[in-house]
Amino acid sequence: MTTKSIGSEPIANNGVDFVRKAIRAISAYTLEPRIAPDKLDQNEGALDFPDALKREVVTRIMRRRWNVYPDFEAVELRDAIARRGGIARENVLVGNGSNELLMVAMATLVAPGRRVVVPTPTFPLYEKLATIFGGEVVPVDVDPHSGALPVEAMIGAASGPDPALVVACSPNNPTGGVLSLGDLDALLGSGAFVLLDRAYGEFWDDGSPRPVDRLVTLSTFSKAWGLASLRIGWLESTPELCSEMRKVKLPYNLNVFSLEAALVAIENEALMRARVADTIRERAKVAAALAALPGVEVFPTQSNFVAFRVEGSADALFEQLIARGTLVRNISRYLRLERCLRVSIGEPAENDRFLASIAALLGAESAVQSKGEGA
Ligand code: PMP
Repeated sequence: MTTKSIGSEPIANNGVDFVRKAIRAISAYTLEPRIAPDKLDQNEGALDFPDALKREVVTRIMRRRWNVYPDFEAVELRDAIARRGGIARENVLVGNGSNELLMVAMATLVAPGRRVVVPTPTFPLYEKLATIFGGEVVPVDVDPHSGALPVEAMIGAASGPDPALVVACSPNNPTGGVLSLGDLDALLGSGAFVLLDRAYGEFWDDGSPRPVDRLVTLSTFSKAWGLASLRIGWLESTPELCSEMRKVKLPYNLNVFSLEAALVAIENEALMRARVADTIRERAKVAAALAALPGVEVFPTQSNFVAFRVEGSADALFEQLIARGTLVRNISRYLRLERCLRVSIGEPAENDRFLASIAALLGAESAVQSKGEGA
């Protein structure tokens, strides 16, 4: 019996050399696990889903047969989402977090060599996924002071003989700036193809853009809706683009638990709206108190987080805040965000504890106390 050889040489480096070059060249999206009593690092909703609604989800789950796949088309949830936006089921796809749908959109739209315009700094997954699918990432600078998305520069970077994909995160994570409906129209009017990430869209009035040609929007139940643990997101676009992306999406990607929870959340949308209003009030308090601290520069924000720059070491301040009980996000390694941290808006008491700690650490206790009162 002869042994067939697969290739002339064994694959070197424990098989790692078999991995696509584009993958070997990038690093993984990581988050160093740190723990503190007040968790203000991931922009989740400040409050848990209420017990009564959790029970309602469980009751509905108990009526389901767990040995049977969920609805192939996730019709009920897509209809509920479509009704909110006055659009059709065919305009909507649902996924296991908006991250999954970001991957689906990128896999569908990013061809090798295609330019992908990414305002920077922003959510790191755009660049990573665009690179994985062979795109050529073209970064454009977010205005470091206004934090606004640089629409003119985005249009400039997208223009050229071949169509480009423009990614816009509005409000932008981690800086908090936005793209107005007028700016979005200008971008689309320039001929660009736009992938708009509305993960934080509920925290400002973004005008709920309608599904039009060359626009794909991503939304999530992880932030304003307070369901981050259940991993539910949705995508809106034209029926034509949705059918193309449906070819890429895995079947049965949402489990029944998540499907039911999203339906219960939508049936109780007033709760989400009330919580968003509270967050916006707290955001004003936190941003004003931070801005009053010595040497602190606050990025204008329309989201449920505030990014800020300090004069000293962000790394040291990050550790000192943990030691005092608050975990924030250290974003000082992001391009152009040297000495910056980002704090999510939590419950009022958490925000107050954070403000008291940072004031004490930056030597400005009295400033925050007087700013914080009644703000
Ligand atoms: N987009 C942005 C801008 C985000 O910040 C996040 C979460 N950090 C996501 C998408 C992912 O959200 P999901 O939980 O829906 O996957």
